Amino acid sequence: GMKPVAITDGPWPEQQANATSGNGELLRAALVALVRNSELSGMRSTVRQLEDRFNRNYGYPYIFLNDEDFTDEFKKGIRAMTRSQVYFGKLPKEHWGLSPYVTEDKVKEALERNKDRYIYGGSYSYRLMCRYQSGFVYKHPLLKNLDYYWRIEPSVHYYCDIPYDPFRYMRDNNLKYGYTITPQEKAETVETLWDTTRKWMIENPQHLPETSVIHWVVNEKAEYTHCHFWSNFEIVDLSLYRSAAYESYFQYLDRAGGFFYERWGDAPVHSFAASLLLRKEQIHWFEDIGYHHPGYAHCPDKPEMAARCVCGGNSDYMTSRSMCKRRFGEVGNIFRNQALELAHM
Ligand code: GDP
Ligand code: MN
Repeated sequence: GMKPVAITDGPWPEQQANATSGNGELLRAALVALVRNSELSGMRSTVRQLEDRFNRNYGYPYIFLNDEDFTDEFKKGIRAMTRSQVYFGKLPKEHWGLSPYVTEDKVKEALERNKDRYIYGGSYSYRLMCRYQSGFVYKHPLLKNLDYYWRIEPSVHYYCDIPYDPFRYMRDNNLKYGYTITPQEKAETVETLWDTTRKWMIENPQHLPETSVIHWVVNEKAEYTHCHFWSNFEIVDLSLYRSAAYESYFQYLDRAGGFFYERWGDAPVHSFAASLLLRKEQIHWFEDIGYHHPGYAHCPDKPEMAARCVCGGNSDYMTSRSMCKRRFGEVGNIFRNQALELAHM
């Protein structure tokens, strides 16, 4: 069996990289949440499920990040749920704030204009969150030694036993991005995201790989499909976000101001990046990981998968209604010059 591990606040122990659990090698990976003190009970619920369905057999560490100090109550409440190492970190001030490229007055106007147009349309902190998850989370010192992260959130559900290590699955199969649910983004929140993205492509062709799966997000007529990987669940090889190409893309988006003047989410941003910078074979649908986040759920319906899940039947979003799920199955990779042609259309 597994020995209990010491509980510390860090620094990240070097030996973690080579630690082994009862089931073999642990990768340099962690379960990571940005979360508020007020979400303790939802976060406890998520951790309880992850432990029961998966992590009690592996012992991957957790990292909780917050723009404020975590309360002792929060730390105690989380630590009671797991024997894994748990790290609590505060965001560096320069990672959580207004982009230097936007002006306060124009942001205020944008919040006012959009407050009744879409959810979080008038929220400033939501925009900080989206910008943080897009361009900063993987730069937090606590994530420095990580190769992979699994993003988690409070009040989600993990429906199925996960009898293997998804991190190792990613590594062994050369996967860079893992997802479960693929809705369409509300168009009003990303009105100029594709236009900004195509400009970045045209100005930075050196950052585009030889082939990529851009047709997942942009159709043959160069129209934005609004398909995106729902990033409240994502398992990612962080070399994607740490690449020069991604940094250039994020900086370009930040400069354009859409995180504030519109309400660009980290999900459509990550999805554009994955589609532009990866090949289809590097992106994986974790079909067997049943998952619910308020709004949508994925419940596996293949019998061999459904057998170890507590969600029932096939009435879920993914199997019944997702245009984007079908689309991801159908699209193929295209060459860089074809991607650039799309950007110019
Ligand atoms: P939604 O999933 O788009 O409805 O947005 P959420 O409210 O779930 O926010 C996404 C994630 O960021 C969740 O894990 C939240 O706990 C976290 N989050 C959102 N806003 C803040 C914030 O202002 N401070 C902190 N510390 N976490 C936040
Ligand atoms: Mn959420």
